[in-house]
Amino acid sequence: MGVPSSRIYVAGEWVEPAEGHYPVVNPATEEVIGEAPEASAAQAEQAAAAARAAFSGWASASQAHRAEVLGRIADLLTKYNDDLVPLVQAETGATMRVASTMQVPVAVERFQRYARHAMDSPLVPLPPQAIEATPLAKGGVVGAVARRAPVGVVACITPYNFPLVNLAGKVAPALAMGNTVVIKPAPQDPLQVLRFVEIAHEAGVPAGVVNVVTGSSPATGAALVASPEVDMVSFTGSTAVGRRIGEVAGRDLKRQLMELGGKGAAIVLEDADLDTAAAGIGSTWAFHSGQICTAPTRVLVHRSRHDQLVEKLVAYAGFCKVGDPLEPTTVVGPLISAAQRDRVESLVAEGVAAGATLACGGERPELERGFYAAPTLLTGVTTDMTVAQEEFFGPVVVVLTFDGDDEAVALANSTPFGLYDYVFSADTGRAYRLASRLRSGNVGLNTVARNHETPFGGFKHSGVGRDCGVFALHAYSELQSVVWPG
Ligand code: NAD
Repeated sequence: MGVPSSRIYVAGEWVEPAEGHYPVVNPATEEVIGEAPEASAAQAEQAAAAARAAFSGWASASQAHRAEVLGRIADLLTKYNDDLVPLVQAETGATMRVASTMQVPVAVERFQRYARHAMDSPLVPLPPQAIEATPLAKGGVVGAVARRAPVGVVACITPYNFPLVNLAGKVAPALAMGNTVVIKPAPQDPLQVLRFVEIAHEAGVPAGVVNVVTGSSPATGAALVASPEVDMVSFTGSTAVGRRIGEVAGRDLKRQLMELGGKGAAIVLEDADLDTAAAGIGSTWAFHSGQICTAPTRVLVHRSRHDQLVEKLVAYAGFCKVGDPLEPTTVVGPLISAAQRDRVESLVAEGVAAGATLACGGERPELERGFYAAPTLLTGVTTDMTVAQEEFFGPVVVVLTFDGDDEAVALANSTPFGLYDYVFSADTGRAYRLASRLRSGNVGLNTVARNHETPFGGFKHSGVGRDCGVFALHAYSELQSVVWPG
């Protein structure tokens, strides 16, 4: 593979962007690494129309054919892994370890998984029902089945942190179910997504089934959301943008899958193993510079264990080397942009001004270039502070204390978010009971590990609908009930 295309992809053709190009910047070096196409709103609509034109052919293709195409995409992603990883790394600023293990291979797994699911029966069997005669119809034993049908054209709008993984999590199940898609990647790192589309083309995806439009402003995505040719919006990103999309999509009753922001509580009970808790919480610093929606960024610790836990966390942060993501010993790479670093810094300053204490970090690392933030721990935080309520999306953890389980639950539930919480306790029965009181779509008990079979999504302002495993497949379907006399 060579330099990624600087054109958008519509109806199986590479098309010159109507509004020129914009620079894509490596967040570690601040150097321009490529030019991305600036599509116009009209081109976004053309892409949606191309997906509409391709829909009936793809929806009626055999399941085996769809499975084969998805499998070929997985194979080609694997084949081009060594070309893709450096691009993924340069665009996102991820450390080499994260770029090579958590980005391309996870996207491959997702295409493999939904290649298998493409062969699932679309029928949901239902028991026959004995019904009495009514003025509507005569009685009898009435049979029925529910059939999963594709929704239609899906706009897949993705965030910057895991461009390929996120795309795969949407495009693979949507295609497996028989939908066609228009992809709109995040403006910061779209080049790997253009590469992906080259791969989809090589894999033999029929024209119009996969389209991609890119742009530096919200206008491209907004045009898709408003397009009458789009039946469903699958969005992953911030709650603020999700809300705007929901307003527009709701007017036309478009189906929506919304995976939004988080402010994960990590409840550390008095009987918790503090090394396990600290290792889990420290992942906020050690994993992609905290640019993770599920990160345990809000520690709620029993007052009796506060000092011990803070000591362990400060020690953990001290081991997290910040710097060049290409260095094998680096743990914390840059944030995606100067704007994101400024946001993190100003939120930290706001926390300190409101009375929180900097246990470590807070300062800008002394590096010549790059959008770096130091692993930061804020203690003495109360739930009314902005730092306890707003998502940083950076390497910052805040610590609050509680005296009893009821208070821990109330604090955990005291933000508008409800994406991923954690409970650390030696008593897993107690932890489980506490988890059931959390208004959160996912709860980890003594672990930050993910189980990819589980339904993934948020309560409250963290989202609408469920992704991952077989649940993602179902998210891209409508249920049609078919009834017949016995
Ligand atoms: P963002 O909301 O700023 O942007 C996401 C995407 O939406 C981008 O492609 C952007 O161009 C597009 N967009 C912006 N305005 C739009 C509009 N009006 N109409 C249509 N599209 C529009 O998010 P980001 O900064 O890229 O990513 C960080 C956010 O994503 C965080 O809040 C994080 O929690 C969230 N996130 C959530 C999950 C999850 O699964 N819940 C996963 C990853 C990231």
